[in-house]
Amino acid sequence: METYADLLTTIAPSTGETRTIFDPATGEAVGEAPVHGVADLERAITAATAAQPAWAALGHEGRSAALLRAADAVEHSAEELAQLLSREQGKPLNGPNARFEVGACAAWLRTAAVTELTDETVVDDGATHATLHYRPIGVVGAIGPWNWPMMISVWQLAPALRMGNAVVLKPSEYTPLSVQALIHVLNSELPEGVLSVVCGGREVGARLAEHPEIGKIMFTGSTATGQAIIKSSAGTVKRLTLELGGNDAGIVLPDADPKAIAEDLFWGAFINTGQTCAALKRLYVHEDIYDEVCNELAAVAAAMPMGHGLDEANVLGPLQNKAQYDIVSRLVEAAKESGARVLMGGDPDTGQPGYFYPTTLVADIDNDNPLVAQEQFGPALPIIRYSTVDEAVAMANGLDVGLGASVWSADLDAARSVAARIQAGTVWINKHGAVDPRIPFGGAKQSGYGLEFGVEGLKACGVPQVING
Ligand code: NAD
Repeated sequence: METYADLLTTIAPSTGETRTIFDPATGEAVGEAPVHGVADLERAITAATAAQPAWAALGHEGRSAALLRAADAVEHSAEELAQLLSREQGKPLNGPNARFEVGACAAWLRTAAVTELTDETVVDDGATHATLHYRPIGVVGAIGPWNWPMMISVWQLAPALRMGNAVVLKPSEYTPLSVQALIHVLNSELPEGVLSVVCGGREVGARLAEHPEIGKIMFTGSTATGQAIIKSSAGTVKRLTLELGGNDAGIVLPDADPKAIAEDLFWGAFINTGQTCAALKRLYVHEDIYDEVCNELAAVAAAMPMGHGLDEANVLGPLQNKAQYDIVSRLVEAAKESGARVLMGGDPDTGQPGYFYPTTLVADIDNDNPLVAQEQFGPALPIIRYSTVDEAVAMANGLDVGLGASVWSADLDAARSVAARIQAGTVWINKHGAVDPRIPFGGAKQSGYGLEFGVEGLKACGVPQVING
């Protein structure tokens, strides 16, 4: 059986340089990541351009078969991948974390492989015959974040490969080892050059976004970087799928059962220790059940152990990096200074190694507090009291992002009608963040554009072509 160290083979960086990656829970070294530069990116793009026509020529059937074999390979190496992911990203093996993420990689690969995409007849009236097809784009660039590094890489590469493209992937500089290991495993089932990973910083990402041989960029990360990518891709009019930041609202209607929803509310907010794009980041609770929801949520939260990811008991881990730890600390401090009531947490033990921030619930907080208005991306949830549904909907819609949202109620029809008024790409009912490879996912407002998953996700990785005649 391979160990994760065996999974770290990659293209040697032309600089010869490597960089030590440290465990965010302990500060111990996890491994050495290559420092690739723009010259390495050029090599990867040249190889991808050469390999793409033969990959496209395999057709959907051949490519789907390869993706299914790649999913099997991920499952074969699942435990090694999960251990490496846990050490590099910090997320525990258990809970909706590292093993779950590796399982999701296999699930998304399989769904991308088996989702049917048929040519569409648009008009066939005797006089006109027009059909719509989706052709390969060529070489797709994928740029990803550090929170779900393996899963989000698969979200990008699986539909792109299925549609006959080659892919050059640039992982976050915080989590290059996990993505390299995943690509190593996938490449055991893919032709050479079709999929490669270049572990550079933002200059490599920026070059990928402007490169004339790249036909599309799939980007997941912050809104600010998404804006930079729009600018650098403009010169070549690249196709873009942008999955950007969010600050998801959840609205609990007065008829909800606080005890029944508490655990799902908790995981909606604290999945991956809050470092999730479509996590619940602002919870609006009706005044009639406000105290009860706060108490039930605190009881669930108190029972969720946080600690080193390789300890099987833990379900919450550290923040992945110091910058993110500082953001969460700053926002919780701002809430405390404003007089908001800290129900639990909010007092990190700065004497401990690692970027652990305790599970934090903040009640009686104003909607314009920075902890509410900014994406905290960590284990700190503000709970805002409201009196009328109109007021809650206005607060939910008050920001310039709109990735996900949720409505919690015993009355499905009432929840659906509130959901329809929320400006977000997905609104879940009585759950939050439940992404599914069969169901399209994407953002509204400054959370981005373009859809991933399902047949829409496949179409987004092709060039539409009409044949009229
Ligand atoms: P980030 O924007 O800082 O970095 C993402 C990637 O972009 C990294 O690989 C980085 O090297 C690269 N990059 C940086 N500057 C670049 C440039 N000028 N040109 C090209 N590439 C560049 O994001 P992050 O901190 O890694 O991730 C956290 C953010 O991602 C949060 O805002 C979160 O909400 C968002 N996110 C969104 C989704 C989604 O599906 N909508 C999913 C996960 C994370």
